Amino acid sequence: VKILVLNTGSSSIKYQLREVAGGAVAAGAAAAGLGLAGEILADGEVDRIAEEGSVPGHGRALELILESLLDPTSGVVKDTAAVSAVGHRVVHGGERFTAPALITVEVIAQIEECSSLAPLHNPPALAGIREAQRILPHTPQVAVFDTAFHATMPQKARVYALPYRYTEAGVRRYGFHGISYSSVTQRLDGMLSGGLAGHKVMIAHLGNGASICAVDGGVCVDTSMGLTPLEGLVMGTRSGDVDPGAVLYLIREFGLTADDLDRILNKESGILGVSGVSNDMRDVLGRADSGDERCRLAIDVYVHRLRKYVGAFAASMGGLDTLVFTAGVGENSGQIRAAVCEGLGFLGVALDPEANDATHGVEKDISAAGARVRVLVVPTDEEGFIARATAEVVGAG
Ligand code: AMP
Repeated sequence: VKILVLNTGSSSIKYQLREVAGGAVAAGAAAAGLGLAGEILADGEVDRIAEEGSVPGHGRALELILESLLDPTSGVVKDTAAVSAVGHRVVHGGERFTAPALITVEVIAQIEECSSLAPLHNPPALAGIREAQRILPHTPQVAVFDTAFHATMPQKARVYALPYRYTEAGVRRYGFHGISYSSVTQRLDGMLSGGLAGHKVMIAHLGNGASICAVDGGVCVDTSMGLTPLEGLVMGTRSGDVDPGAVLYLIREFGLTADDLDRILNKESGILGVSGVSNDMRDVLGRADSGDERCRLAIDVYVHRLRKYVGAFAASMGGLDTLVFTAGVGENSGQIRAAVCEGLGFLGVALDPEANDATHGVEKDISAAGARVRVLVVPTDEEGFIARATAEVVGAG
């Protein structure tokens, strides 16, 4: 079955058309050589939405995507009825959504209620859902949430030690990158002896945004992002953990407003903030190698934070047998993986340096022979997970 996957941001729509194995056709699909993730029939992005001289809005952007899929010469489908369902990435599902959901009027209202928790992310996703419903009124639509994977976290890992009335108002830890963690754990289930059951796994999703997740027996027990995707690791432009007292100090001593801090902590901090030159890990690694001290410091702070979280989660999970790297930096940078693992020998982590250096964007065991902890690179496939989840929800999977 063909699933259209949409990842709608404030000024862009990324899309993929996936062929995934449906129930009745699964055997045929397997025979045709389709992997678990499904084949990518088409993909692309419309960006700069609503900018001058570009596409006026999300509706027109989606029309353009469908026009290209239906194009008589270069298109991959003959009519829109060939698309079985549309799967939408939705960042924040709040407390309500712990699994993918078929979109109804009620579900849209509930996603809207979660929007105040993710003002940058949920409103564009809702625009994408509304436009897709308008343009494809007979096609079922499914929302897949980045928070859902973390719904299994125990209360002790979810609750901030604030006055409880704020916890009751929803100010608690939710976690993000759940679609990526779901895709990686599904893959791991086939790679680990006996599947995920009985394994204590940590997955580091290191992209431009970055987080780490502790998965015990296939279930999330802790993660580094919290109420918003700002908590935890050092990221491309996000600070990650900062003493809340430092935020108060910035307000009082520098006269900063909530909007200033939103911009500074989300867009001007992290690797960019410390290095002063770039949020792109490749750039910063290159400059550090050429002797730029601020770039060196940015990488040191990034690696230090990550190592600290691995240690903390090994303690909160009560062990570690598999450490997984995924996303842009995690899949591609042997240098960062080596730097993180260097300090973790006491946990039983040891790399095979040659395998580590040679691994870029492919699935690979990079641990030293006989090491107690297996270290793996597993490429993330968020669109593949959304496509499969969508097919399952509409009963085609
Ligand atoms: P993502 O958000 O998953 O696309 O990851 C983007 C990040 O991955 C950027 O910071 C890139 O610089 C980084 N990245 C991609 N390839 C490499 C590489 N070969 N070495 C280091 N960082 C990389």
